[in-house]
Amino acid sequence: MWDSDIETADPPLGKCPTCDVTIPAANLVVAYDRDGDWPRMLAECPDCSDAVNPV
Ligand SMILES: [Zn+2]
Repeated sequence: MWDSDIETADPPLGKCPTCDVTIPAANLVVAYDRDGDWPRMLAECPDCSDAVNPV
């Protein structure tokens, strides 16, 4: 079932801080780019369906 869709080539964003589930890049909701600071991201957790900051 593996195809060469480029969307699947993105590395995961991180894990949900609540349920420790890996969040795929496709679940990214919004990314803030802040100078000299951590990039902040909001992504929808596939498990709790909440918008979280991947860790
Ligand atoms: Zn979660």
